[in-house]
Amino acid sequence: MTNVVDPADTEHRFRRNGQDLRVRVVGLDEGGERGHLLLFGAVADGCLVRVHSRCLYGEALRSQDCDCGPELDKALDLIQAAGSGVLVYLEQEGRGAGLIAKALGYRESERSGADTFTSYETLGYPADARTYLATARALADLGLRSVQLLTNNPAKVEALRQEGLQVTAVPLRTRALSERARDYLEAKRTRRKHWIPTDAAPWALDQADAASPMTDEPSAVDPVVITPGENIRPRPGPGAAPDLIGA
Ligand SMILES: [Zn+2]
Repeated sequence: MTNVVDPADTEHRFRRNGQDLRVRVVGLDEGGERGHLLLFGAVADGCLVRVHSRCLYGEALRSQDCDCGPELDKALDLIQAAGSGVLVYLEQEGRGAGLIAKALGYRESERSGADTFTSYETLGYPADARTYLATARALADLGLRSVQLLTNNPAKVEALRQEGLQVTAVPLRTRALSERARDYLEAKRTRRKHWIPTDAAPWALDQADAASPMTDEPSAVDPVVITPGENIRPRPGPGAAPDLIGA
């Protein structure tokens, strides 16, 4: 973890959705993982954690081609509702390859019809160059031994688990904003084993419903408890089994 100032000296008010929270900021720049940890409220064992990679298009520009913006919004909504939690915001645009690579990948997918992972590989980029080990260490350095990780991505769970953290994975449900976003989610599910609902998937809703705000969405499916030494496998709760695809 890298920080030139005491995190306590960064504490300030943060207002979103009409609600104030205290936030502290910790820098991270280690092993190719660069970004910040935003510590909301009183961070303690079992708190909500979102490890999020930067997506200029989806977040700042509100592109409807991916689910990054809705995922970030949903994660922050949940952290605010809980009154505390950690957002790790990583400068890993384009799954770690950068914005130019991402643009080349989009263009290649447009040309060939292949999914985003295949397009990256066609262009000579890794399908996903991101790592999370320094992030995991930074979380452990905060004194955390257990977290509720807001993610659909088994690779993030595994990285935190390797650092000795007990992880309860809480898959995030977001509503696909377009046909292309739906295809992207499907590629993440089939190519990277993300835990994304299938039968009851948000994108199965009709178009009119899909265009409505996401305020009525369930916040998450049943949590998955994963402790060091266990295989990563979602634990479907009652009625949730058809929704989840395991690792
Ligand atoms: Zn995105």
